[in-house]
Amino acid sequence: MNCLEALLANDKRYIWHPFTQSHIGYSPILIRYAKGAILYGENGRTYLDMISSWWVNLHGHSHPDIINAIKVQAQQLEQVIFSGFTHEGAIELASRLADLLPEDLNRVFFSDDGSTAVEVALKIAHQYWRNLGEPKRHCLLTFDGGYHGDTVGAMSAGVNSGFFDHFKDMMFNVVSLPFPATWDGDDTIAERESDSITVLDTWLDRFRHEIAAVIIEPLIQGAGGMRMCRAQFLDSVARRCRLAGVLLIFDEVMTGFGRTGHLFATSASHVTPDIICLAKGLTGGFLPLSATVCRDSIYQSFLGEDFSRALAHGHSFTANALACAAALASLRLLIDEQTKTMLQAIEACHRKHMNRLADHPRVERTRVTGTVAAFDIAGDNVHYGSAASLRLQEFFVRNGLVLRPLGNVVYLLPPYCVSTEQLDWTYALIEKALSSDVVHS
Ligand SMILES: *Cc1c(COP(=O)(O)O)cnc(C)c1O
Repeated sequence: MNCLEALLANDKRYIWHPFTQSHIGYSPILIRYAKGAILYGENGRTYLDMISSWWVNLHGHSHPDIINAIKVQAQQLEQVIFSGFTHEGAIELASRLADLLPEDLNRVFFSDDGSTAVEVALKIAHQYWRNLGEPKRHCLLTFDGGYHGDTVGAMSAGVNSGFFDHFKDMMFNVVSLPFPATWDGDDTIAERESDSITVLDTWLDRFRHEIAAVIIEPLIQGAGGMRMCRAQFLDSVARRCRLAGVLLIFDEVMTGFGRTGHLFATSASHVTPDIICLAKGLTGGFLPLSATVCRDSIYQSFLGEDFSRALAHGHSFTANALACAAALASLRLLIDEQTKTMLQAIEACHRKHMNRLADHPRVERTRVTGTVAAFDIAGDNVHYGSAASLRLQEFFVRNGLVLRPLGNVVYLLPPYCVSTEQLDWTYALIEKALSSDVVHS
């Protein structure tokens, strides 16, 4: 057995991979190192990482600035308990985030991943109303197709994402509202937005004293299929929440840090939520770290003379010093003018190709928001986990491209260092797949 075979045998023997049916002909690809937008495998094989390694990488792999920030930090302080103690990196990072986020989104609670950022937001919203003397307010409104993570609270919020049928008995009840997804040339959107708002109004009118919060992925529902909505819809939702006195939570775990072409979807849409969840791109894709950021007034409600009003939540690695150092380095790169130019170039390139692809007989509902582009494959043989969907993924990987279609949705979510040539090549390969028998049953 050579070294690769031995490694993969032990992978097969000992590892339980996420979102994977390992029983059916699945063999993971071993990656030795990565640089920029390229992953390097065995025998000189390369893979273009067109999904930013599950949406976390921003500036390309192995960026020297982030490597260096982690190195310097590791020599000084790797981790310290974050209750009763603090450190410079966390303080600086929290101040930077408060600076970059609008209005009084100033109070930062750190945790480790997107799911926990959402759990924390839900618990804060829940206890906020108890602290204000309204303990009956614990109902959560969410949107069909929304995805908020895999822990139990986050699964409940994403009950209609389509991933969690086995776990329904574990979840708490939420109310799920229709989500007005839109695409290029969609002429029914105003009507569907208004229908969605009517349903929201009905719930807010009848049950406003039982509703704690509304949670939404602003501008793009990620795992639900890169379903995009208009900024004016978010504006209508926010106005309703404000009038009804209900909290609004933006789950920007995917949309944050430039994906929508702006720093955050909240800055792109000029709509400010009461709580915002950030993760994935926070450290540029180097280390797990997340943040739940609240308005000052929410934090105030947790203050009191004894512990009873405080938030009883925390994780072992809260505000890990290495992760904070990586995040600060990543943010410095993100606000650089050059990055802004790169984001615009990616969007323009997506636009050009999507305009052409829109005429393809197997392509429906092309859509672009910032650096994220998607379309649906027409026909009903391609759905999540279907043979055609797996064949498509295999076709891309065989050709050195990392794309993971979500059922019939093909999407691109590249790191910002991607070149126009790499994007052109990707779209050419997608067209080749569409015209081949890969997507036919
Ligand atoms: C990925 C994702 C999450 C969960 O984040 P993890 O880091 O995978 O726990 C939550 N919300 C949204 C919108 C996401 O895209």
